Amino acid sequence: MEKDVKTILSECGFGFKKQLGQNFITDKNLLAAIVAASGVGENDVVVEIGCGAGTLTRALSERVKRVISFEVDKSLQPVLERTLAGCKNTEVVFRDFLKVDLKEFESVTGGYFVVANLPYYVTTPLIMKIIEQSEKCLGLSVMVQKEVAERLCASAGTPEYGAITAMVALRAECEIVKRVPRTLFYPRPNVDSAVVKFTFRDSLKVSDKAMYKKVVHAAFLSRRKTLENNLVTAFGFTREVAQGALSACGIDLKARGETLSPERFAALADYITENRPR
Ligand code: SAM
Repeated sequence: MEKDVKTILSECGFGFKKQLGQNFITDKNLLAAIVAASGVGENDVVVEIGCGAGTLTRALSERVKRVISFEVDKSLQPVLERTLAGCKNTEVVFRDFLKVDLKEFESVTGGYFVVANLPYYVTTPLIMKIIEQSEKCLGLSVMVQKEVAERLCASAGTPEYGAITAMVALRAECEIVKRVPRTLFYPRPNVDSAVVKFTFRDSLKVSDKAMYKKVVHAAFLSRRKTLENNLVTAFGFTREVAQGALSACGIDLKARGETLSPERFAALADYITENRPR
C-alpha cells in the first residue's frame, strides 16, 4: 500500500458512518493474528463481510487463493481502489450481505471460509444467515462484541447461555480465539471485542430444524418460567402434553430452558416432531 490507511481515508475525504458499524482495524499485528487464528491457507477461498478500508481484506489476500469481500458502503470505493491496489485475487462486491441470495452465490462458488470484523449492529442476523442458509461455508472466524462472543461460546446453565448459543450449536462449535481491546480500532468503539472461531460439525442431528428453532425460542420465552410453562405458552400444549414430552426426554419437570444442552433441545424437538397432533 502506498500510504498509511488513515492518511488514505483522510485524503479521500471519507466520513465514518457509525450506523454501519464502521470501526476499522489498522494494527498490523492484530490483522496478522486474525488471519492466523482463522486457519485459512493458500488453497482457500475467503468471503469477507464488510471490507471497510480493506486492511483485513489485504491481509487475507496475501495469505489465501481468493477473497470475495462484500461492502454495503459504496463511498469506500475510492479508498479501496488505493488500499487494495495490486490485490489481484480479490474482488469487492458492493452489496448488503443480508440481501445476498446465498443459494445463488454458492451455485457459482466452491467451499469457502468466512473471515470478518463484523459490523456490530447486524452481528446476529449475519451469523444466523450463514449458520442457517449456507451449504458451502466450511468455517467462520469473526470479530464480534465481547459480550456476543461470550454468549456464542456459553455453556448451558450459565447466564450467557441463550437462544443464539443453542441455535448456533446445531451446526458449529464456537471458541474465543482472541480478545481484542477497544483501543485497537479506528475510530475507537465503546465496547471490547473478541474473535470467535466456529468449527462446523455434523454431530448434532435433528429431524426438523424448524422444530428445533421453535423449541429453543419457546425455552427462552421467559427465563423466569419453567420449560413446561414456556412450552404450554409457545405451543398451546396442555400441561399433561408438556409434562409427557419432558418426561419422555428425561427432562426434570421443574427445569428451566436455559439449563438444557443443545443435545437435550434436539431430543425434545424430535419427540415433539414425532408425537405432535396431526
Ligand atoms: N473489515 C474492516 C476492518 O476490519 O477494518 C471493516 C470492519 S467494520 C467493523 C464493518 C464494515 O461492514 C463496515 O465497513 C461497514 O460499512 C460494513 N457493513 C455494514 N453492514 C453491512 C452489510 N449489511 N453488508 C456488508 N457490509 C456491511
